[in-house]
Order: sequence, then C-alpha cells, then structure tokens
Amino acid sequence: MTTLSLIIPVFNEDDAIRPFLDRMAQLRSQFEVELGSPAKLEFIFVNDGSLDNTRSTLEHLCRNQAEIKVINLSRNFGKEAALSAGMHHASGDAVIPIDVDLQDPPQIIVEMIRRWKQGAQVVNAKRVDRSSDGLFKRGTANLFYSILEKIADQPVHAHVGDFRLLDRQAVEALNQLNENTRFNKGLFSWIGFKVAEVEVVRPPRENGTTKWKPTKLWSLALDGVTSSSTLPLRIWTYLGASIAFLAFLYAGALIVYTLITGGDMPGYASIMVAVLFLGGLNLLSLGLIGEYLGRIALEVRRRPLYIIESKEGF
Ligand code: UDP
Ligand code: MG
Repeated sequence: MTTLSLIIPVFNEDDAIRPFLDRMAQLRSQFEVELGSPAKLEFIFVNDGSLDNTRSTLEHLCRNQAEIKVINLSRNFGKEAALSAGMHHASGDAVIPIDVDLQDPPQIIVEMIRRWKQGAQVVNAKRVDRSSDGLFKRGTANLFYSILEKIADQPVHAHVGDFRLLDRQAVEALNQLNENTRFNKGLFSWIGFKVAEVEVVRPPRENGTTKWKPTKLWSLALDGVTSSSTLPLRIWTYLGASIAFLAFLYAGALIVYTLITGGDMPGYASIMVAVLFLGGLNLLSLGLIGEYLGRIALEVRRRPLYIIESKEGF
C-alpha cells in the first residue's frame, strides 16, 4: 500500500477549504493511477490558530471523511511551524506540503508522483512564472534569492516554495532537525538526496487574501539568510581588518607629517568623517551580530516549535 500525505497549513481559510477539497476530489483518480494500487491519501490540515470558522469546518469534514485529519495549534505559530507539526504527524511514503488557496496547482502532483516513482526523493515545484505575484513581491523575491544564492553555505533551491514532494527518508531527515528559527526552504535543500524538478506557473489566489504581511516576509527573509549563511558575520572581520590597516597607514603618515611640519590645526572635517564612518560601521556590525544573537537566544530556550491543542482523525 502506497500512502500519500498532503500537509495543508491553514490560517483563517474557511472560504478556501471546500474548494481545495473539491479540486482534490477531481484529481484523486489521477493520483491513484500514478501511485499504483493499492493507494491511500491522507489530508493533514494544520489549523494555525485561525480566528474564523476554519476549525469547525475542518472538524465537521474530519468526522465525515476518514482520510481527513486535523491538528489544532494553540495559537498562530506561523506557516513554518505549522508545516513541521504536519510533517511530524504524516504517515505517508511521500509527503507534500501544499497551500490551501490553490496557488500550488494540484495537478502538478501527478507529475511529482511520477518523478518520485522514477527514483527522485525530493521533487521541487519551481515557479517559472510569478506574474500573479505582483511587482513588489516578485522584485523582492528575485533580490532575496539572488543574495541567498551568493552567500548560502549550501545552495538553496531558488524559486521553489514549500510545495514539493518529499519521500519518507527525506521527511525523517527533516524531522531530526530541531532548530527553532525554521526556514523550511533552506532545510529542504540542505538535507540533500536525489532531487528532481517540475515547473509550475503560479496562479493567483482563488479564495480569501494573502496571510503574509510584508513585515512577516521580511522576518522570513532574515531567518533565511541567518539560518543558511554565516557570511554576513564574517564580512566584518575582513572589512574591519582592511579599515584598521588603512587607518594605521594614515596614522603613521600623520605622525611623520606632524613631526616635520609641526602640524596644522584645521582638521575638523577629516576627524568628523572618520568618527562618523567608523561609528556607523560599528553600529551596523553590532546590529548584524544582534540578528544572530537573537536567534541563538531563541535556540537555547529550547521551546517546542508549536503547541498542539487538539488532534482529530488520527
Ligand atoms: N499560513 C499559515 N500560517 C500563517 C500564514 C499562512 O498556516 O501564519 C498558510 C495559509 O493559510 C496558506 C499558506 O500558509 O495555506 C500560504 O499562505 P498565503 O497564501 O497567504 O501566502 P502567499 O501565497 O501569499 O505567499
Ligand atoms: Mg497563497
């Protein structure tokens, strides 16, 4: 028996759940053909502290359909934590995290299963066309990935969201990673394994509105950089060393000059420039160290990634 688990994090998505399940019902036979018989599907909805009727809708569906399972988190922990909760509870031979808003086109799953059956252990859905995303989001996403590409210690698959197929071995590997500041896209790439790629065009959201505020996306981007690279910390060693070297040269020259000519008083501009430049540099590097330090503080507390209030259907 081959089981496919779909992990669906939901935050205030009451309007989107039924259309999502309807779409899945249409595609179900195609999934089963690819999976080979006997096949089983499992839908794990992770209710990430929704404030609307998401919870009652899910619990109603769960009571009527054995393959629907629900994890209610005790508050909104964010999509990354919600995905981890789902991953810890998935029983499938293959696991696919997917958005409920149909922006991750479900028909791609057919192709993903095919690639998996051919031996790939991680099948990425690469976003080749993001025109539905709006100019700002596309621009910032491009910038983010191009920076990350240059500085990440291990390459992070660019323009691949959380929508991908992970086989059991990859899921077990991910479940072993117990860091608190989680950047799943980085971890999915970090674990390695045989990777295949299918291309998707990301359609606009079908129901409801986006649950990401720009500030949340900014934090996610910072988490992405700090969890994938230590280069931003190391830069200061080199920059600091170069500036110190130049400063020593300049100081030496100044001493010689003063000894010879007796020195000249007007030096306000050069002193101000040096003080402001070095002060600014200090603050910038301190801030950057703070970004890492804050995350270290979070890690040493060893709090759980999420808290489950209740589970249904398991
Ligand atoms: N989501 C979540 N918790 C959050 C934010 C989002 O579980 O704090 C879920 C959301 O319900 C959806 C998925 O993550 O199923 C993707 O969110 P959204 O479509 O708003 O993101 P976008 O497509 O705009 O990047
Ligand atoms: Mg979306």
